[in-house]
Amino acid sequence: MTFEDLKIIKPILQAVQEIGYNTPSPIQQQAIPVILAGSDLIGCAQTGTGKTAAFAIPALQRITANNTAGGRSPRVLVLTPTRELAGQISENFTSFSKHLKVRQALIFGGVSAVNQIATLKKGVDVIIATPGRLLDLARQNQISLKEIEILVLDEADTMLDMGFINDIKKILAFLPTKRQTLFFSATMPASIRKFATSILRQPQEVNVNPVSSTAVLIEQSVYMVEKTDKPAFLVKILRGRRTEQSLVFTRTKYGADRLVKVLKKHGFFAAAIHGNKSQNARQKALADFRNGEIQILVATDIAARGIDIEELPHVINYELPEVSETYVHRIGRTGRAGKTGFAVSLCSSEERKSLDSIQKLIGNKIKVARLTQTRNSA
Ligand code: AMP
Repeated sequence: MTFEDLKIIKPILQAVQEIGYNTPSPIQQQAIPVILAGSDLIGCAQTGTGKTAAFAIPALQRITANNTAGGRSPRVLVLTPTRELAGQISENFTSFSKHLKVRQALIFGGVSAVNQIATLKKGVDVIIATPGRLLDLARQNQISLKEIEILVLDEADTMLDMGFINDIKKILAFLPTKRQTLFFSATMPASIRKFATSILRQPQEVNVNPVSSTAVLIEQSVYMVEKTDKPAFLVKILRGRRTEQSLVFTRTKYGADRLVKVLKKHGFFAAAIHGNKSQNARQKALADFRNGEIQILVATDIAARGIDIEELPHVINYELPEVSETYVHRIGRTGRAGKTGFAVSLCSSEERKSLDSIQKLIGNKIKVARLTQTRNSA
């Protein structure tokens, strides 16, 4: 199947070709026709499946085709949990609308609202926002959401995990009830499904790459390492993979900062990305990692969710997550677009239980690896 087969209009098709996408990904093949037909959609898909294009392309096409609104009130609203993710979605919209006259605003907290308000005042077609700041602006009448035709809830499970449910419900009250709603979530537990059904109308359902399945191209291994030995052990692993970039996960923000200190002491270019860092610090760390100035990015789960870095060869679970599905999300950062990725986990005796539940979820035993002379000073 090609993008032409999906009846994408010329200006978007041209942009898609320029970006270099040849074939629509499975979620795009399934979701684009449904969205173009105007149906509500519930999509179970993780980051890495091409889900952003799966909603951005048809949303842009619909507002272009039906360009009746004279003024410039926003017609597409995308809600997403983190600033990083909002930034990436915005980049996607910018790329796909390169040959269209579409204006967008990126709205998120943690920075002054002055520039965001100024952009809104000029008139925009698409808003990509995190819920808290959007709600503030809606309450202050800085933004009108009355003309929204398409609402996208992206990473709905993360938004709910992060406690955004009330903000989202309040935002819904500012939107017209007659609209198209597209609901994407990486996981679909009963609570999420219930919320989805409460806001969707006769949705079509698409499922891609369920969260219990890890990409086949990811080579997974686990080292049994006690907590106190982990810093030295990690340094050893990273030395063994010197030239490559790694994304390292810790459970806590404090743990991430502490680990960065250890890594720097050992001569690595490392930075942490987590919720306590300022917006600028997070964006800089991400940009430095993308352009190769930083070898090791140490992240907590929420900060890392949605990070899209091309060709990331290694994901290291310095600590195993308590929630097994998080493991799948974490290692989904590697092994993308047909490339082999490596996911390495360090498991202490306290974490055995977490390892057991992860293996149960993915339906596989993770290969136990060994490193010789593991103990040295870190
Ligand atoms: P997403 O799931 O939206 O975060 O997308 C993950 C990655 O896949 C991004 O780097 C996209 O640029 C890339 N991507 C999305 N759709 C396609 C496609 N049809 N062909 C190739 N790459 C794609």
